[in-house]
Amino acid sequence: MPGLDPRQVRDRGGSDHPRSHRMKPLWDHALATRAVHAGHPPDESTRASAPTLVMSNNYVVSPDAPFSAELTPADAPHFYTRWSNPTVGQLEDSLASLEGGEAAACFATGMAAFSGLLLHLLKAGDHLVMSDVAYAATTELAHAKLGQLGIEVAMVDMSDLDAVARAITPRTRLVYAETPCNPIVRLTDIRAVAELAHRQGALFAVDSTFATPIATRPLALGADFVLHSLSKYLGGHGDALGGAIIGARQAIADLRRDAVIHLGGALSPFNAWLIARGIATLPLRMRAHSDNALAIASRLEQRRGIKRVIYPGLPSHPQYELARRQMHCSCGMFGFQAEDGPNAARRLASSLSIFHYAVSLGHIRSLVFYMDTAQLMESSFHLHGPQLESYRRFAGDGIFRVSVGIEDADDLFRDLDQALG
Ligand code: PLP
Repeated sequence: MPGLDPRQVRDRGGSDHPRSHRMKPLWDHALATRAVHAGHPPDESTRASAPTLVMSNNYVVSPDAPFSAELTPADAPHFYTRWSNPTVGQLEDSLASLEGGEAAACFATGMAAFSGLLLHLLKAGDHLVMSDVAYAATTELAHAKLGQLGIEVAMVDMSDLDAVARAITPRTRLVYAETPCNPIVRLTDIRAVAELAHRQGALFAVDSTFATPIATRPLALGADFVLHSLSKYLGGHGDALGGAIIGARQAIADLRRDAVIHLGGALSPFNAWLIARGIATLPLRMRAHSDNALAIASRLEQRRGIKRVIYPGLPSHPQYELARRQMHCSCGMFGFQAEDGPNAARRLASSLSIFHYAVSLGHIRSLVFYMDTAQLMESSFHLHGPQLESYRRFAGDGIFRVSVGIEDADDLFRDLDQALG
């Protein structure tokens, strides 16, 4: 969306792409009620009570329907599923309601959402300020591709507000933070960074995948966009990839045209249906993830052979005060450093019986994966000097990223304990 005035994005009003707004966002109801009902009224034609799955690529339309998205009015009927689909629309309404946003656009994956947002907002000559530590593929994309497009990137430690203030220039169009960030569970003060970004006329987008709307609502803290990998907590069951961006109505309508319809990373209706089914239990699951993570992280912190546990729910987290201020629960993700990490990783991979030694996160099943610092620096983060030191303070030579599931906390601790040896 080159040329868009950042202030416009924050304005309320305008019209979104079609059809999905048949139901009020239920903003006067609690999150647990919205997680079940928002976006999912009984089906108008069948009166089905459960969310309907519409697997159709196209729709029978009137002969005066235009062929191009450029000419399609925002309230036009469904036309082609890359543009809109009833099941995906229901999920978008649900997500907008949970995040307290006006509208949402869904994508095939979290990465499709991230790349779509960047290509939509940024053009040659623009400047992006981004978390220096974030999900590896996002930093890899920014390092590898944005320079080729003439977009300058400054990677900063988002927990250092002075560094963020120094990095934002009048050319900065977008500030992008992940909080808590993958894999070291470091936090960004959303309200403070939103102020710094807006002072220079830049937009602020937050990847809230680790937090979910149960822990943090970035729009209420001043962000312009919230991004989720729906493949994680929102879907919750590890069986469907998806992504979403939530924001103001007109901004999402513009994003949808550029980033979904034209770039093409649209969400499958079947995955939308699975993810919507997952969202209904998100508040319950997040409570279980969070309680389990706190129980296991605090026991692990006392265990011999463990050098460090990084969990926003523990007073030992360097940003514990910020976590208490900004997060409604501490979530299900923690990191730990163990003596002789690579060997410990081999032991875990061969001896765990409940945890799966696997990537991804936010699933009902507990997952653990080891990330070597030198390897990550070479492939993904490329940090030096104080930024590398700051990373090493969290992760040492390597970090185990733990996604705590909803199994029994004692069983989970015993499993880790026996596998660590
Ligand atoms: N954001 C975060 C914080 C992630 O952890 C991930 C994936 O692990 C992504 C975005 C990308 O999501 P997806 O795998 O759905 O493309």
